[in-house]
Amino acid sequence: MIYDTLINRIGQLLLPAEGPLKGEDMKQLVVLEDAAIAIKDGKVAWIGQNEKAAQMEARQVIDAMGRVVSPGLVDPHTHLVFGGSREGELAMKQAGVPYLEILKQGGGILSTVKATRATSEEGLLKKAKFFLNRMASHGVTTLEAKSGYGLDRETELKQLRVVSRLKEEGALDIVSTFLGPHALPPEYKDRPDEFLSEMIGMLDDVVRDDLASCADIFCETGVFTVEQSRRFMKACLELGLDVKIHADEIDSLGGTELAVEMGAISADHLVAASDEGIQALADSSTIAVLLPGTTFYLGKDEYAKARAMIDSGAAVSLATDFNPGSCVTENLQMIMSLAGLKLKMTPEEIWNAVTVNAACAIGKGEDAGRLEVGKDADLVLWDVPNYSYIPYHYGVNHANLVMKRGEKIWERGDAHVFSVPQS
Ligand SMILES: [Zn+2]
Repeated sequence: MIYDTLINRIGQLLLPAEGPLKGEDMKQLVVLEDAAIAIKDGKVAWIGQNEKAAQMEARQVIDAMGRVVSPGLVDPHTHLVFGGSREGELAMKQAGVPYLEILKQGGGILSTVKATRATSEEGLLKKAKFFLNRMASHGVTTLEAKSGYGLDRETELKQLRVVSRLKEEGALDIVSTFLGPHALPPEYKDRPDEFLSEMIGMLDDVVRDDLASCADIFCETGVFTVEQSRRFMKACLELGLDVKIHADEIDSLGGTELAVEMGAISADHLVAASDEGIQALADSSTIAVLLPGTTFYLGKDEYAKARAMIDSGAAVSLATDFNPGSCVTENLQMIMSLAGLKLKMTPEEIWNAVTVNAACAIGKGEDAGRLEVGKDADLVLWDVPNYSYIPYHYGVNHANLVMKRGEKIWERGDAHVFSVPQS
């Protein structure tokens, strides 16, 4: 057999196990040293020791020079499509104005809603494509993207159509999530139940036109209650959508428990999750998607209790939460560093969290987040000497080469690589 691509002399090839990985299992990361991987027709065709690759034939041979190869990263929580930007809020943040207060004053998310409504579909597409390419350049090959900056039928559908077009036109796999109930629009001030009915009324269109496979709601003080969230999630489940929830980010309302009760595919944020909520997660198949970049960016000191979650047996994942207000970064590697520093996760737990568990958190456990013969060859060659190096050396891009289904989708322009021992 002549392979399309052979990557040889890999120092460490990361092979996360089948997921979701819960609790203790998150500490296990299979690492094949001095390895090679062969690709044919966009799929992983062979994985083994480098010495066995010497006789193999391939149209293209990539010398990894002792560096690390991992599955393509999966970002399971992003707000990719939006209009405008909010750099003007920095001064308010510096003055210590709390987020819910900025929201009350019509700032925060509502200014993004205004800008997103005012931007054309083409304009949103162009902008999202730019961000998406930047994500790919940082090693992401699969992600989730939410609507939620329209808060009206027309704009929510416009955002979802943009995600559909990105799926069709781009290389990356994107899971689309309908997040109509992301905030209360000014037109429905003090009428959350009516707004929720309006959003539930949209679900038929969303499902009919295959615009999303997941639905999400922001359950928080001043936004939607646990009871309202339950009502929305039930309606979504009845139509066959997977459900997710922005839960217990600021106040401990019981959104985590609700996620488990509803069989949500993931519960996200969870900074204020109660001990009962954490135990419920551990006993469930719902994945905790933690967003330490948001806590960091909001200037808070209290981070989600990742250690308690993992130690009690829950499956934990990590995401950027890329959005124009509370976490403005496409760099999932930066989140890996924050997970090490602020969530006290080990490098093994972090890698499982951004690959296999992240894929499971968006219903892609079968297709993404792992390297296995027969699966899509989505992978990253990193300019690092070992996998612990990425959480350690923070804030920069370590990706050298990113492949989606065996095709290069991003490559570092210069050939200068991190100095590593040669095998
Ligand atoms: Zn979010």
